[in-house]
Amino acid sequence: PTQYNEPGGWPTNVRGRVPIDPENPALRRDDQKCILCGQCIEVCKTIQSVYGNYELPLKNEIPCINCGQCIHWCPSGAISEREDIDQVAKALADPKITVVVQTAPATRIGLGEEFGLPVGTNVQGKQVAALRKLGFDVIFDTNFAADLTIMEEGTELVKRITGELHHPLPQFTSCCPGWVKFVEYYYPELLPNLSSAKSPQQMAGALVKTYFAEKNHVEPQKIFSVAIMPCTAKKFECQRPEMISAQTYWQDEQVSPDVDVVLTTRELARMIKRAGIDLPSLPDEEYDQLMGVATGAGAIFGTTGGVMEAAVRSAYYLVTGEQPPAALWQLTPVRGMEGVKEAAVSIPGAGEIRIAVISGLDNARAIMEQVKAGNSPWTFIEVMACPGGCQYGGGQPRSSAPPSD
Ligand code: SF4
Repeated sequence: PTQYNEPGGWPTNVRGRVPIDPENPALRRDDQKCILCGQCIEVCKTIQSVYGNYELPLKNEIPCINCGQCIHWCPSGAISEREDIDQVAKALADPKITVVVQTAPATRIGLGEEFGLPVGTNVQGKQVAALRKLGFDVIFDTNFAADLTIMEEGTELVKRITGELHHPLPQFTSCCPGWVKFVEYYYPELLPNLSSAKSPQQMAGALVKTYFAEKNHVEPQKIFSVAIMPCTAKKFECQRPEMISAQTYWQDEQVSPDVDVVLTTRELARMIKRAGIDLPSLPDEEYDQLMGVATGAGAIFGTTGGVMEAAVRSAYYLVTGEQPPAALWQLTPVRGMEGVKEAAVSIPGAGEIRIAVISGLDNARAIMEQVKAGNSPWTFIEVMACPGGCQYGGGQPRSSAPPSD
């Protein structure tokens, strides 16, 4: 494995030098389809700033943050997500198991593309209908948990600013598992800057096996929790050893991880097609209640700047006890597709908060160097690993190309 660590060295043989570990929790490569073009390395190195940066604790492994951007750049379809459909099908076929599914905001605007609908069509109601037809017992909206994430991150930010919590500023968002892994690999000294809040996926998973189980008198051991995500890194995230809150809650090791399986938007499309369901013709259906309603704050998590905008609004409310002014309901400077966006927001009682919104990890590396050097002017920084945010995640349809810079 040391051969592919040659500094700056472009591989002459991708197949031999850049293996995807067969144990990788998110990605697979079919060597029969690989044409040795090196595009996967190009995106990993230049856009994501991962391949080729080796100041790592890991010396003999390819660092991989599981973002799956290489899937979008591979012209031959050689790289794909690890397919987990069979596990879900097995749970659906077991009448003793309650299969609960959550769907992330970006999936409902990506799924239609796989069925020939115009790019960006919102198929939320049809997605819910298709999941019911596939046999899922309970269907929740991840946006519900995104609202919880926002309240947690907003509260934590206010406490850091007021000094009630002795954690450093700037605070980084923590809902993107590709970004979290990037910090762990390359900037471990800045881990205390990451918000301690779990991602919406993991908050929803924990709630399903605790709150939902309790309220509905379902044994948590008999719940199989599935998440439909635009993201390959979420497959890695749900397997992290700390993502087992329900085991702690019930004090029972028989309870499986909070989220058992993550399927990408593409995998869900394959399941729907294999079942012979014609998604575009389905009448819209509603999410199940209890965890099926959410605010607009949760909905904007799917795009770059959305987490920040929602968190700043919440922080305003938490500090002042009042609804934020109109300017904060449309935080225009942090909307749009640029890789780095900045804004300043005044909150009475907390002063001026300077925020930065970043997507794409090469952009993040430059900002992190500033934070490390102590030159950072920011109070709060949102980072999403995928250029453009989750709507261009590694698990989204391949037909719409993600932004390249
Ligand atoms: Fe996943 Fe979104 Fe992060 Fe991409 S930006 S790795 S899709 S959470």
